Amino acid sequence: NNKRNIRNFSIIAHIDHGKSTLADRLIEKTGMLTSRQMHSQVLDNMDLERERGITIKLKAVRLIYKAKDGEEYILNLIDTPGHVDFTYEVSRSLAACEGAILIVDATQGIEAQTLANVYLALDQDLEILPVINKIDLPSARPEEVKAEVEDIIGIDCEEAPLISAKDGTNIESVLEEIVSKVPAPQMDVDAPLKALIFDSIYDTYKGVICYIRVFEGTIKPGMEIKLMATGKTFEVVEVGVITGKHVVLDKLEAGDVGFLTASIKNVKEATVGDTITEKSNPTKEALPGYKEVIPMVYSGIYPAEGEDFNSVREALEKLQVNDAALIFEPETSVALGFGFRCGFLGLLHMEIIQERLDREFNLNIITTAPSVIYKVMKNNGEMLEIQNPSNLPPQTEIDYMEEPIVKASIMTPTDYVGTIMELCQNKRGSFINMEYLEETRVILHYELPLNEVIYDFFDALKSKTRGYASFDYELKGYVRSDLVKLDLLINAESVDAFSLIVHRDKAYERGKSITQKLVDVIPRHQFAVPIQAAVGSKIIARETIRALRKDVLAKCYGGDISRKRKLLEKQKEGKKKMRQIGSVEVPQEAFLTVLKYD
Ligand code: GDP
Ligand code: MG
Repeated sequence: NNKRNIRNFSIIAHIDHGKSTLADRLIEKTGMLTSRQMHSQVLDNMDLERERGITIKLKAVRLIYKAKDGEEYILNLIDTPGHVDFTYEVSRSLAACEGAILIVDATQGIEAQTLANVYLALDQDLEILPVINKIDLPSARPEEVKAEVEDIIGIDCEEAPLISAKDGTNIESVLEEIVSKVPAPQMDVDAPLKALIFDSIYDTYKGVICYIRVFEGTIKPGMEIKLMATGKTFEVVEVGVITGKHVVLDKLEAGDVGFLTASIKNVKEATVGDTITEKSNPTKEALPGYKEVIPMVYSGIYPAEGEDFNSVREALEKLQVNDAALIFEPETSVALGFGFRCGFLGLLHMEIIQERLDREFNLNIITTAPSVIYKVMKNNGEMLEIQNPSNLPPQTEIDYMEEPIVKASIMTPTDYVGTIMELCQNKRGSFINMEYLEETRVILHYELPLNEVIYDFFDALKSKTRGYASFDYELKGYVRSDLVKLDLLINAESVDAFSLIVHRDKAYERGKSITQKLVDVIPRHQFAVPIQAAVGSKIIARETIRALRKDVLAKCYGGDISRKRKLLEKQKEGKKKMRQIGSVEVPQEAFLTVLKYD
């Protein structure tokens, strides 16, 4: 094969603009699979992804295209995940390409993620090819959207294909654009091996399958390779390409995209972004851009009533083999018993794991509200990283605390600017600036505490803007913050499981909301039960559960006996799930109301 005829590219888009549909069409047009053989959207190959319409794990597909110039081209299409939580993975898959198709919905125009992805592609110096999609829709305004792309992103849209990925209109012009505009890869096949891992998945039979882009040199079965970030060495078992199925080859060379297996047991040993080289003839420098993935959001995962702790552990272990970003360790909670503290890339990642435990492992679990990692500088100069409030040192030992901050961009019709500013203000955001995209649309830049973003920012933004605003963020770093530990006291007794780390300005609001919830779910006792929220020794919110006046059965006197029995049974049932806090019986439900995330 002529190396000059390789094109490595990705498709970037805002969610729902048609990335997966276009990928399907490209695959279909190049004859990889007929539409009948093809389940809808082959690239999204997990059920969950298909249902949610998001692509979690990226893959690469090799297409053969006979172009109008009469030559045959190898087009390697590298799929990218479409959500903020996976920005790093997106950046690594883009790093494997020379070009990217930017697909923009002709009815929507540019959205927050469109821009975020374009920036990532520009960072990798990719050739960006704009494509306007969904021209079949009556509300399509392709000319306006083209102008928008030219104005905002500054790329020429004169030759941008106007397509309908759904109907298959103009797909060929996309293929021709790729051939004529995406640069051919460099191809020094004799240099020492230098290859990028842009994805890795665990396979029960073959161990980890790494998806790789070879930049220099050649990789073959039997070769001793070294992963430059982890320092691990392996012997290559197989290399090959994916053409709908995995096809084994005798080598991959500079310019190629494909897969490799090497009896690797865990994706943590071959992580995304790592550079592969030959052990005996290493390349001088690793490829730039490697990052260790750091979980940003933590939550507790506990077996629900009647569920086994060990089954949950086994399931998490199985998920982890395939997910370098998932971490967990056992923890115990007074309220929820034995469970795990898990770390995730973000909220979506957390929801995916939660859903997989439910769906693939049939486990009934309770997830606690998410939290972030705080940094605590002690008076003695020691810096702690803390995500569980019960590990916080006493206030007197703390010099200061820091919390993670994100850079957020919110794209919105101008109508909602006021509402969004109010929301961001309320979430302790600092306004950076506002850019006009066109007369009626702006992009707002804010810095927001991650803690507030994971609390209920997305939902609030969506409901306040009726879904018109789009949101994207990246971690900026840590800043000092006036954080306090909020304690909850039931009948004057502090309940560890309810403690929270919050900003001082939010302590009252959060304390009040929790005390109010608890009043509703803790049954009355023979005595009045105060529910209090406190910061240090200061009570900041208080509710009281009034004392019980009558026996529950009293109202049944004279009533029928079966009703009485039902009540007694119900009471017994309730007893089982009670936890004793001092002299107060607190039902499991109360803990769930406060701790559970849904
Ligand atoms: P992705 O999130 O970018 O991968 O978007 P999908 O490819 O999953 O498409 C999102 C939705 O838009 C799906 O319901 C598609 O059927 C629909 N869609 C994609 N392309 C077109 C198109 O050209 N015309 C119309 N009318 N709908 C489309
Ligand atoms: Mg998709």
